[in-house]
Amino acid sequence: MTASEAPKKIHIKTYGCQMNVYDSDRMADAMAPSGWVGVASPEEADLVVLNTCHIREHAAEKVFSEIGRLKKLREERVAEGGSRLMIGVAGCVAQAEGAEIARRAPAVDLIVGPQSYHRLPEMAAAAATARVVDTDFPEEDKFDHLPAPDRARVAARGPTAFLTVQEGCDKFCAFCVVPYTRGAEVSRPAAKVLEEARRLVDAGVRELTLLGQNVNGYHGEGPDGSDWSLGRLLLALAEIPGLARLRYTTSHPNDMDDALIAAHRDLPQLMPYLHLPVQSGSDRILAAMNRRHTVASYLKLVDRIRAARLDIALTSDFIVGFPGETQADFADTLAILRDAAFVASFSFKYSPRPGTPAASSPEQIAEDLKTERLHRLQAQIDAQAAAFLQSRVGQTFDVLFEKPGRRAGQIVGRSPWLQPVHVQADQSLIGRLAPVAITGAHGNSLHGALVASVQ
Ligand code: SF4
Repeated sequence: MTASEAPKKIHIKTYGCQMNVYDSDRMADAMAPSGWVGVASPEEADLVVLNTCHIREHAAEKVFSEIGRLKKLREERVAEGGSRLMIGVAGCVAQAEGAEIARRAPAVDLIVGPQSYHRLPEMAAAAATARVVDTDFPEEDKFDHLPAPDRARVAARGPTAFLTVQEGCDKFCAFCVVPYTRGAEVSRPAAKVLEEARRLVDAGVRELTLLGQNVNGYHGEGPDGSDWSLGRLLLALAEIPGLARLRYTTSHPNDMDDALIAAHRDLPQLMPYLHLPVQSGSDRILAAMNRRHTVASYLKLVDRIRAARLDIALTSDFIVGFPGETQADFADTLAILRDAAFVASFSFKYSPRPGTPAASSPEQIAEDLKTERLHRLQAQIDAQAAAFLQSRVGQTFDVLFEKPGRRAGQIVGRSPWLQPVHVQADQSLIGRLAPVAITGAHGNSLHGALVASVQ
């Protein structure tokens, strides 16, 4: 960019999971060296990128309506003599339905799949004159080409950060599009992960959440050329001075190996919190889902994890109303919710994803029955979550403070189990850990008082 050129403005709207949040940050980082600055709204932008998610129902339709809104904004701006707004679609919907978007939405200037974000600056330049589409699964590692964020950008994002270590999934659960949209499992080399982690910590990050569609399936090349599992990677990350907390998500039960369970026992930095989706409490439905584990094997695994780390809090995903689910199957799901003592869950009614095996099952469940079951499941998980929160009252533990609270003089951090904790304290504590005595629980959060020295 020359001194006379005004910076170009990009607005990235993120849908869906934490991996998309991470990808949006990396897209912004990729665009920065070409003179693009991030802005908070489409109205201010020269380019709007919709970083889409395919998991939720009607995902593609929501993207098409958003494109319609942006097209209108473009027309208004042109009518007022302003510059032309460019529209981009990224993420899983771009990957899965790129051709359909190209056909149905001529207003879209660029379509970029999750494996091609490093090409975004050149695509944005080319899209000024003609539409550009790139939804390949390239051989090369996109992370090798994505520029590292500078210190100031990382610091501005706060003391917690995501770090993608693995992408794709080989499991092919019958309801899930990830193996089709994100491709086969690929793990980043450990040296690259460690280098990025060190840079983030150097810029003030105290807590890292390692991300992957099947994160505990991580098998990256170690610095010595050997194969590193997630457990081995966590051991190395825990040696980085200043990195106080580690988490990882999302995991498959069959990939919880001995090294990873030992890491929960041995690493104080690894927080006592594990999102380990079970999806259903019925062996019959688990088999139909192609989950490749049973209720008994899952509960046995939970026992082993709890033996390694007594205070671990487990959370799960549930799909309610999977094709063929009977009342007895659903009763089994309520039973495992209790037996595994989950403290939170992401629970959804089953909705068919085109192209997945379960979508064509003739045993689809009526919508009102799915809704009723979902409400019952959520009522039970809410009760278990409330009981867990109440059990923290009277305890003292470290909180990592992340931002100012809504009330004057208040700051908010996270407990080791991820709940927000509200404390009256000086804002200078943001970015730091301090012990807090918990005095109460409200809704989904805790509140308490600082008790001693700050780390
Ligand atoms: S393990 Fe997770 S990401 Fe992989 S197919 Fe199953 S639900 Fe999808």
